Formats: sequence, structure tokens, C-alpha cells
Amino acid sequence: MTRRIFVDSHSPALDALLEAAECLRSGGLVAFPTETVYGLGGNALDGRAVQRIFEAKGRPANDPLIVHLPSADALPMVVKTIPTIVSTLAEHFWPGPLTLILPRGDNVPLSVTAGLDTVAVRVPSHPVAQALLRVSRLAIAAPSANRFGGVSPTTAEHVLRDLEGRIEIVLDGGATPIGVESTVLDITSPIPRILRPGGVSREALEAVLGQVELVERKASREEAQASPGLLDKHYAPHHARLILLEISDPGELWKEFAHHVSQTRQKGLRAGALIADEDLPYLEARFPELPRLALGSLNDLGSIARNLYAGMRAMDEAGIDVLLVRDFGTSGIGLAIRDRLYRAASQIIRRAENGA
Ligand code: AMP
Ligand code: MG
Repeated sequence: MTRRIFVDSHSPALDALLEAAECLRSGGLVAFPTETVYGLGGNALDGRAVQRIFEAKGRPANDPLIVHLPSADALPMVVKTIPTIVSTLAEHFWPGPLTLILPRGDNVPLSVTAGLDTVAVRVPSHPVAQALLRVSRLAIAAPSANRFGGVSPTTAEHVLRDLEGRIEIVLDGGATPIGVESTVLDITSPIPRILRPGGVSREALEAVLGQVELVERKASREEAQASPGLLDKHYAPHHARLILLEISDPGELWKEFAHHVSQTRQKGLRAGALIADEDLPYLEARFPELPRLALGSLNDLGSIARNLYAGMRAMDEAGIDVLLVRDFGTSGIGLAIRDRLYRAASQIIRRAENGA
């Protein structure tokens, strides 16, 4: 049985934190909200607890975990040396959704880092995560609190649906404010590299660091189209086939959209859509009965990110077979949204700007 403990997301009660901290200290697993998504936490310096994290998630051992700390002052707990750029980055982005790849301290079990000599570290800003780190005085290894390959959880209900009975406690602090994972930044190369776009935008990093490289996803869109199996599929709905419509011209977009709706229906399957608020009038007029969720306004990509994973899960649970998703661009957190959509997509339909 997993114990669900409700906490105030701004100021969690001390007795709840003490219970969760005691559980972690004795090798148990505690899921908790961070500003990005819910984390599945265990004592990062306890090899058995780390092993249990991998088992609970069904995560392959070659996929390293992020270690969470209460502040940059705690870095010596888990890293060997601290590159000078870290203090600048910490000043600007910690606590917050930025993960740094740093030299692994000798006391960090190799299971945490999948055998690497580097360790991924971040200082979360969510009051519940912060309080748990401070009360437990532990470095907490915490991947997203979902079964491997699925959609990350942004509520405690999502966590329980995936991990009920596999973890001791979930601290329920409501929905997570950012809704997509942290930005993973490698600062060991001459030009810092974004390994995974996330809650801290590329623009914000460039304002502080100058040039920042973006590591392209393994399978390109074109490759993915040629052979969907090539795509590094992750963060994906269980049942629904996700089709991303990366088409900026509205006329082209809705033509393609209508084509896929009718094709899906002809096969006797259920189509659904994840769209923007601005798309609603069109859908009301053309497809009044199509199951759909508007994730937020195109002028507020933060709301799209916040609602994205819950939207994918809801469509899955509604029995949607083919989920059509519009593109939201790449500015700010849009880059992270597109990355997650690429990973979730079975098919990406792409049209260049000039109809080429
Ligand atoms: P998750 O905790 O599920 O959000 O995923 C953690 C992410 O951090 C994955 O994309 C890992 O590949 C990445 N990561 C963790 N540790 C390292 C590391 N030492 N070097 C490079 N990437 C890492
Ligand atoms: Mg994950």
C-alpha cells in the first residue's frame, strides 16, 4: 500500500515531512512534487534505495538519475569538483528547473549514474521538495514518478495510477506548476550543451552563458517519418498513437487535420485532439463531436506545458486511438514542449513554410 499524504503546496506540515524523511532515511521511496513534475525519491547515497527506484519504475539500469539537493552549498555531498561556471548558473537558476552534469563524487553509487563518472544534479524550488530535502538532510535521487517510457506525472493521482503499491509514500501537493522536466545542461564541453530542453529556456541560458548548443535528438523527424520505430520513443501515451502536425500555415494545418480525422473514423477508430485555445472556434464549427482538450493559449506556452502531460493521459483514458496534436513553436518553453511531442509521436507530419 502506498500512503498518500496531502500537504499544503506552499507550506507543508512538519509531521508529514518528518514521516517522509524517516521513510527515505530507512531506504524507502517517497514521491513528491517538484516545480517540474512529480519525482520518485530515494536516498541517493544508499545503493539499495537506488536499486528500488529502478525496480519501481521498470527503468533500465543504463538510464542515469538526477540527484536533488537543497542548495548549491550541498554540492560537495555528491560532486568531486565544482567548475567555476557553476556559481554563476546557481545564482541565476537555482533553485529551479536546471540540471547540471558534474563530476561524480566517490560516495555516489555507480547505479545512480549508470556507471558514468558524471552525476546530474539539481536544486528544486518547489516548497515541498525544498522542505523534504532540508528536513531529511539527504541527497535525493529522483526520476519522474511514472513507469518507464510513459508520460511523466504532474499530479499525485498520476503517480498513484503508475506506482500504487510500489512506493511507500506520495506527498500530494497538487498539480506541478511547470509541467515538463528540467533542462539538462552539460558544462563539461567548451560550449555548454543542452542535453534535454526543459523548464529553463535556451534563451535564458544564452543570456547568462553566451552561446549554448542544443544536442539534436537521436532520430531526426525525417528518419522518424521513414521508420517510426527509429524514434527514441518516450514520454508516450500507452494506447493512443500520437500524430504531431508540425504545420504553421493554418489552411494546411486544418486540411491535414481533417484528413486524419476522417481516415481514423473510416477505420472505425476514435480520433481526439490536443489543441490551443485559439483553435476552439474552428473545431466547434467543423468537428463539434471530436473529443478535444485545449491546453492553453498560443500566447502563453507556460500553460500548454503545464497541461500537456495531463492532456495526453486524459485522452488515453478516454480510449482515444489516434491523438492529433498541433505544434506550438519553439520559443521559450516551446522547445521543451516540442521535444516531448517528438518523443511521444508515432508520426510527425511536417510542412515547410512555403509549401515546399
Ligand atoms: P528523468 O529523471 O527521467 O527526468 O531523466 C533524467 C535525465 O537526465 C535523462 O535524460 C538522463 O539521460 C539525464 N542524465 C542523468 N545523468 C546524466 C549524466 N551523468 N550525463 C548525462 N545525462 C544525464
Ligand atoms: Mg522520466
